[in-house]
Amino acid sequence: MSDERPDRIWHKTAPEGPWDVIVIGSGMGGMTAAAMLSKIGKRVLVLEQHYVPGGFTHTFKRKGRKTGYVWDVGVHAVGEVTPHSLTGKLLKDLSRDELEWTSLGPVYDEFHYPGGFRIDFPDSPQKFRANLVEAFPEEEKAIDRYLELVREIAAGMRGYYLARTLPRWTRIISDRTISKTANQWLDRTAEDVHAELTDNPKLQAIFAAQWGYYGVPPSRASFAMQALVVKHFLHGGYYPKGGSQQIAKALLGTVAANGGWTRIRADVDQILIERGRAVGVRMKDGEEIRSKKVISCAGVAATLERLVPESVAESDWAQSVTTLTPGPAHLCLYLGFKGDIRTAGASAANKWFYETWTPEDETWEVKPGSIGRASCLYTSFPSLKDPDHEPGEGERHTGEVVTFVPWDVFEKWSGTEWHKRGDDYEALKQEIHDAMLAQFFEHMPELKPMLDYSELSTPLSTDHFCRPLKGSIYGLEPTPTRFRNRYLSPITPIPGLYFGGSEVSSVGVIGAMMGGVLAVASAEPLKGWQYLKSIMTSD
Ligand SMILES: Cc1cc2nc3c(=O)[nH]c(=O)nc-3n(C[C@H](O)[C@H](O)[C@H](O)COP(=O)(O)OP(=O)(O)OC[C@H]3O[C@@H](n4cnc5c(N)ncnc54)[C@H](O)[C@@H]3O)c2cc1C
Repeated sequence: MSDERPDRIWHKTAPEGPWDVIVIGSGMGGMTAAAMLSKIGKRVLVLEQHYVPGGFTHTFKRKGRKTGYVWDVGVHAVGEVTPHSLTGKLLKDLSRDELEWTSLGPVYDEFHYPGGFRIDFPDSPQKFRANLVEAFPEEEKAIDRYLELVREIAAGMRGYYLARTLPRWTRIISDRTISKTANQWLDRTAEDVHAELTDNPKLQAIFAAQWGYYGVPPSRASFAMQALVVKHFLHGGYYPKGGSQQIAKALLGTVAANGGWTRIRADVDQILIERGRAVGVRMKDGEEIRSKKVISCAGVAATLERLVPESVAESDWAQSVTTLTPGPAHLCLYLGFKGDIRTAGASAANKWFYETWTPEDETWEVKPGSIGRASCLYTSFPSLKDPDHEPGEGERHTGEVVTFVPWDVFEKWSGTEWHKRGDDYEALKQEIHDAMLAQFFEHMPELKPMLDYSELSTPLSTDHFCRPLKGSIYGLEPTPTRFRNRYLSPITPIPGLYFGGSEVSSVGVIGAMMGGVLAVASAEPLKGWQYLKSIMTSD
């Protein structure tokens, strides 16, 4: 029995069952699944290995509890959160209207290319078209066809995802009906489609400018992924008021308010399967917790690689997933500034500093003693996005600078303990930190005198706190092969076991959220769809 205050939202222990559903992982997928389950009357237990919930939506602090700097680890801009969209309506209901989203303003992403070229991605489709046409006046036709395709394919993906919640035997029919449009485009890469639309390499690069939001260059990305991301941001980018930790407070607050429970520092070792059915989990310390159903939101491939018995892991269906390639890992510089960073060019808009017009220069070559230049630095200033941020007397602000890096660079230290990885690791980390910071200040030199704190996170930090496979920033690469895989789906061949989170749906906060929704619609079809219908038909 738990000895903790029940009015808290998350706990280190949990009461006795019985539980209807255990949700593994408290990322956006897990929190959404748990909130929706609790709303439809299920008693749910969320198990999270980290000491704070939220997965990639968690935040952390440095330099003092009250006066310190706070950074988000995986939330810079989120689209489709206002009640004009179904996802916004869902989020509002699942969070009991306790989550407020603030617009990043008329421009949410600024792109800076070599040769002084700059283009802004604004908060309306009309302005987006106008900006593209202004930059490439002779390409109006290609731009219009591109925007048309983005809408058509993104809409077609709804049918694709819906089909994934239906029993497997219906696939032959759904492939020819609701998934038909998506299926026609899934196999095409973004590069192919862009090249068909225009011969202009710079416009092709601008179409793919946001590839950093899905992690693979256009030559490998499915055009479906490209369309989903572009459509996602057509009405701008938003940020959670109070910082991204508010997401966990709101969604897990719904779980707690409906009799569910979230347990942190709860490391799941294995999903228990008895007579072919999922019946609960075994924790790292051997404790067994039973439930009628299990939804794993700890990544599909990671679950099949780490949390299922060998007989399942070795099955053809599991291997069809675990042999897919995880996307790149990332590095992030977390910066603390003293001073009014707006006077040095910072704003709520994210800034993408490209070193190249070729998106295929995807990752940074990093070797000890020879640190090159990152091909793109994605820069964000969370304190300027959050209306609740109080800079205080010291005028404190935060910045984040992200870039991709191959996991292989860090793999050799993957068995080591956090903060005890050895001098060679610390030396490499320092070298990368210095190189990345110097490259960043080339773009925003006036920020340099305001720097008060800086820290680099590596893929090993990601591995330690969120555990994606190979430290991947967004999970499995969104290639045509991924979208074609029939087992990257909320329904598994094991009765009682379901998958949620971004890998069954699409990348990002809202992608993961929809992954949680799809999992519940599959695990509890009757009540799940009744709930979704009530949201769809609400004002
Ligand atoms: C640097 C960065 C920037 C990003 N920027 C944006 C952005 O601006 N906009 C956007 O929409 N998206 C962004 N994303 C992506 C987005 O944050 C993620 O796609 C999304 O949050 C993933 O949610 P998830 O639930 O699928 O997985 P996760 O958040 O990874 O959650 C999985 C959870 O499972 C837990 N877990 C794993 N194994 C176990 C176990 N054995 N036992 C118990 N718990 C376990 C993990 O600790 C974790 O909490 C960004 C991501 C990163 C890393």
